[in-house]
Amino acid sequence: DRPLRVTILGATGSIGLSTLDVVARHPDRYEVFALTGHSRVHELYELCRRYRPRYAVVADDVAAARLRCQLRDDGVATQVLAGEQGLVDVAGHDEVDVVMAAIVGAAGLRPTLAAVHASKRLLLANKEALVMSGALFMQALRDSSATLLPIDSEHNAIFQCLPADYARGLARAGVRRILLTASGGPFREMPLAELENVSPAQACAHPNWSMGRKISVDSASMMNKGLELIEACWLFDARPQQVEVVIHPQSVVHSMVDYVDGSVLAQLGNPDMRTPIAHALAWPERVDSGVSPLDLLRIGRLDFQAPDERRFPCLRLAREAAQAGGTAPAILNATNEVAVDAFLTGRIRFTQIAGMIEHVLQCLPRTRVDCLDDVLDADARARDLARHWLARE
Ligand code: NDP
Ligand code: MG
Repeated sequence: DRPLRVTILGATGSIGLSTLDVVARHPDRYEVFALTGHSRVHELYELCRRYRPRYAVVADDVAAARLRCQLRDDGVATQVLAGEQGLVDVAGHDEVDVVMAAIVGAAGLRPTLAAVHASKRLLLANKEALVMSGALFMQALRDSSATLLPIDSEHNAIFQCLPADYARGLARAGVRRILLTASGGPFREMPLAELENVSPAQACAHPNWSMGRKISVDSASMMNKGLELIEACWLFDARPQQVEVVIHPQSVVHSMVDYVDGSVLAQLGNPDMRTPIAHALAWPERVDSGVSPLDLLRIGRLDFQAPDERRFPCLRLAREAAQAGGTAPAILNATNEVAVDAFLTGRIRFTQIAGMIEHVLQCLPRTRVDCLDDVLDADARARDLARHWLARE
């Protein structure tokens, strides 16, 4: 029983670092094979010194040359690759057993799919990849012998609450609904009139979770829950109407499954991504994640309420895109990526994110998806139109 070799795509990010934390607790079970970064090259250098992976991947040849020299000077034998091809190579490498897909956004699509095609155990955090290419992604999974384990805490919870043979169909499993919980983010109770003036720092200050900036803004707009609704439909073969969003401000119940006999199963835990990461790494076994035991007596109460779509129009837009199918989710996702970036760099207001997405969805006809190029084409068109919209504002 040699340790499993793990590639972490997006190692310098929030999920990447949590994954390294769990992996490092179990050197007998896991070995770091490849680590990838993008802009935080110095952080990647430090990680290479510490974990000594076989490969590291950075954005381009210039960064690669520099990192290579630094590591050589330190006597670290890590080989440095560059660009998307480097990401694809370490995701699909023959010697890799497990791939953590934790790049943010559409940039993670190809390397994540490479792990599927190479039949790896895929730990999926990069929800945008699945949202964009849902049908193709799931078909590639069926055509390979890859195993997908959801990292998103909600989907990991749902996975834990479903029977082992859920893939034969939710109806056969006796599932009535999936209850997707949402914290409601930092603006759940802010007066609507003030939403217009919130800053990127306010949007990134999530009450319960510490995460990357993009997903933090998505949580504040609840587009994150919208993307997760689409993600749940693909992962569990659910219809959008079967997925109900429930606001749960404490983020202790990570999601629930409602069965026809009236049983509702939930997974609970402290809001710490190391729990779903450890679950997915070790499944079907269990390993220590370093997360402290849940103290329900200290938490005292668990609250639930309905989401307000006037406050969170992104949730409605995502549900509509899920229902429309075809390229609609890819258009929604791409426009959201441009909008979030524009908000984070001070070019639009928080409340303009939804308007921008609605505009692009209305302008671009939804078309069928037969191949990856259909998805990439929709993504590119949506980004063009979104940038056009920005230039006009
Ligand atoms: P971060 O922003 O913290 O990390 C993103 C990672 O992706 C970094 O390693 C970054 O490299 C890398 N990256 C960014 N752009 C590119 C690119 N163009 N090419 C290659 N690599 C790139 O995000 P999170 O860790 O928070 O989130 C990662 C994914 O996990 C997202 O899809 C998110 O939705 C999902 N997720 C995150 C959760 C969380 O708690 N954080 C919870 C559930 C899902 P660098 O930093 O070096 O630039
Ligand atoms: Mg989530």
